[in-house]
Parts: sequence; C-alpha cells; structure tokens
Amino acid sequence: MSSCSGIKPHDDSNTSLGYLGREATQWRDTINKSYTRADKKDTTILFGGMTILQDKLVMAALQSLGENYVALPNPDFESFRKGKAFGNRGQCNPTYFTVGNLVKYLQNLQKETGMSSEEIVRKYLYVTAGGCGPCRFGMYITEYRKALKDAGFEGFRIMSFQHNEGIFQAENDEESMNFSPKFFITLIKSVLIGDIINLLTYKIRPYEVEKGSTDTAVEECYEILTDAFMQKKNLVLAMWRCRKVLEKVELDRLQPKAKVMVMGEFWAAMTEGDGNYNLHRFLESEGAECIPQPIMSRLMLSIWEAEYAAGKVEDLEDKERESIDFSNVKIKAMMKLAKAAVKTYFTMYAKAAGLHDYEIPNIEELSKLSKIYYPLDAEGGEGHLEVAHLLESVKHNLSHLVISVKPFGCMPSSAVSDGIQSLVTSHYPSANFLSIETSGEGAANFYSRVQMALFKAKQAAKEEFDALETPENIPNKVHNYLYQPKGEMAGSAAQLLTSIQTRGL
Ligand code: SF4
Repeated sequence: MSSCSGIKPHDDSNTSLGYLGREATQWRDTINKSYTRADKKDTTILFGGMTILQDKLVMAALQSLGENYVALPNPDFESFRKGKAFGNRGQCNPTYFTVGNLVKYLQNLQKETGMSSEEIVRKYLYVTAGGCGPCRFGMYITEYRKALKDAGFEGFRIMSFQHNEGIFQAENDEESMNFSPKFFITLIKSVLIGDIINLLTYKIRPYEVEKGSTDTAVEECYEILTDAFMQKKNLVLAMWRCRKVLEKVELDRLQPKAKVMVMGEFWAAMTEGDGNYNLHRFLESEGAECIPQPIMSRLMLSIWEAEYAAGKVEDLEDKERESIDFSNVKIKAMMKLAKAAVKTYFTMYAKAAGLHDYEIPNIEELSKLSKIYYPLDAEGGEGHLEVAHLLESVKHNLSHLVISVKPFGCMPSSAVSDGIQSLVTSHYPSANFLSIETSGEGAANFYSRVQMALFKAKQAAKEEFDALETPENIPNKVHNYLYQPKGEMAGSAAQLLTSIQTRGL
C-alpha cells in the first residue's frame, strides 16, 4: 500500500505538491488502540454507515449504556470525493464513502471548533466492523488509518469488532472498549427495530395519500423509540406505539405498482443516499414499491457462514479434527444461540409493530436453492445470497424486477455473482433482472438503465392487476392492509384483490 506522504519526486511536476526533498519511504500501518476507562469521560465514539434511521437508533441505544456514541451524518458525494482524495487507488466505493465521511466530519469539526488535530485524535475515536476479507473488506480498517493520516489526523483510533463474531468477540487488547455481550445485545436490538420500521416504511410510503405523511410518522416513531432506549422503557410497548402512529397514515393500496427487490452488495444495496444514487427513493418516485434488504439478512448470513465453516471441520480426517473439535462444538452452540436470539427479538418487535407477514431470511433454505449454481465454499461479499434472492424471487413470484446493486468492480458481486446470474437468467428467461454498478456509471446512465427495466416491471404489475376483477364494495380496512403472503401475486395491489376474492381478506 502506498501513501502520497512518503514519495520522493522523480520529476519537477511533484514540486508543487510539496514532496520535494522528502525521503521515499514505505507507508506502514501503525495501530493506535489506546483507550482506557479513564478516557471514557472525555471520548466521543463515532460510528455510522447503516440506514439513516438505524444510525440514529443505534446512537440512542448505545448512549443509554453510558458512553458517548455519535452517529456520523449520511455519506454524500463530498464524502466520496474526500475518500478518493485521501484513499488508495482501486478501493471499493463503500470504503471511499465511509472513510471520506469520517475525514469530512473531522475536518468540519476542526473548522467549527478550532480544535487542533492532536486534540481531535485524543478526544475522538471511530468504531467499525472489521473482517479478514476475503475481498477488499479485509483492507477497510487500514484504509481508514491511511486516509486519516494523510488528512492530518495521524494516530486517530479506529476500533473494530469482527463482523462475523458478533456478541462472541475474541478477547483482545480492546477490552477497555465496551464490546461486552450487553453492548452487542443492545446494538442488535436497535438494528432489528430499525429493520422493522424500515420494512414497514417501504411497504407504506409508495401508497400514502398525502405526500410526506409516512416520513412524518416515521419521525414520530423515531422519537418514541429514542425515548424508550434512553429511558430504558419497554421496547415492545414502544413498537406497539409506533404501530398506532403508522396506522394513521392514510393509504391507497389498490394502485398497481411494480414491486422491485433491491439486493446486491451489502452496503450499496442498503445505504439510502448518494452511495447508491438514492436508489430506493428514485424507484418510489418512479411509481415502484421496494423490497429492501434488512441488515438482519447480513447478520443471519454471518451466522450461517460460521456454522457452515464449523460443519466443514466434521469432514476432516480424524487426526486433523481432534485439536479443533472442542472449539467447533462451542462455535456451533454459540451460533445456534445467536440465531435464536435474533429470531426471538425480531418476531417480538415485528408483531408489536404490525409487521406480520415478514419471513426472517432462512439462509439454509436459500443456500439449498442456490447451491447448484453458486459453490457454497466461495465466501466474500454476500456469498450465495444474491443468486438465491433472484431464484427465490422467480420461484416464489416475489417481485416484478430484481435489481442487484454493487460498487464498480466489486469482486464477489460483479465478478462472481453476476457471472452466475447470467446462467440463472438463461434458465429462467421470464426473470426481469438488472445488475447495476454505482460508481462505474454516471448518475444519468444509472437512472436510465433502472427506468428501462422498470418499464417492463410496471407493465407486468398492471397486467397482473387488470386480469383480476375488482369487487364493488371494498372494505375501508383494505386500504391499510399490509399482508403479503408468498407464492401468489407479486404486486401488493393484485395480492389484495386476490386475498379479498379467495379468503374475503
Ligand atoms: S463485497 Fe465488494 S464492495 Fe464490499 S468490500 Fe468486498 S469487493 Fe468491496
């Protein structure tokens, strides 16, 4: 990895950049993890990178544990430019957006408060998920340190927890950080609650009668939930109060809208902003309803990956297996526990909030669906999930269009999954599938490709709806009805009509 700060000029063109006379040295990642309990009082812990609502909810939840967690603002194009300016070449754009977002935040902080770089380094640190790849994800934390050094914040602390170990982090020298089981349980609760409110929002907003009423209701839910976290109130009750708020949004559910499953690389598919050209909002403005990918889906995949890796140990020869047998049993038991906990919390909160029909992703079933196409041993990115999502959409008639969104040159998504998707679409020619990159294409090209695929999806939604008979007297409650069982109609409006005709709703 190179850094501009240590390059000796080979010609005069570098003079203006201020490199003249500097010794060429190889940049080395120096790791500063010092954070003691005494630092706690004066340290602000920064984090970010989830959906807008989840960042805010996680902030409230973690602050309730007595530490000063602050969520960064949603990354925008300025963050991306800063990430490019201070990062290495050839990184993925989630790195540029998130690293640049931190640089931007610290630079603004310095401008607004007049704090020196040393003071900022002393008083702030950043927490993120880490991992060992196998794609460029393994380099993210080093990228943060490199960019921050070049931006003038040498020694800034980047703390990490392993994304695939969750609550069961290996013991390390970061024990002074509060990565305790309580930290993870609180974190997971806030992420799951954010997922549920987001899923409901995407079901409701396309059908709202008064523009903006869903966003106003979600803002009210955020206040209720923040208060519940901060005051340590009952979260189930808070979700029930959110349900009452969301139910007040007036809807017109009998509009045939194209249903679009948005999946792909985790960050590119999940973010709600410039990182994917505001894809979800764009689709809604074009008359579509989105099926977003909740963060829980990634969580369940990580658990499945750990279980799968443990399962592979059982295939080893007895001699090789002996030494790892115990830890293997332990991993399996822990993952079982983690899965049960996620399912229990999610079901409890979802029911309270009125999200009745959502099925928690069953990664084992999805792996069975995709394994004839995607080798399950191939890790990285979303693994077999992208292929599985397309297959489940086609086989269970879940959507009129599947968009797989990914950063330019994403190794697992563009290079592996999309290669396999060609085979899937050749076996299922009816599949309306669009793979789209977020930085290799300009915004105009991006939107026009989405519009072209959406045109076909809208036609399919309309045909599906028009083929059904509309009953004369539709009960009022139908308009706010959110139930959407699998296996019938892809469109929400067509499903409603079918439900009325076959089950009286
Ligand atoms: S999954 Fe793709 S975008 Fe994400 S870190 Fe890996 S290569 Fe980069």
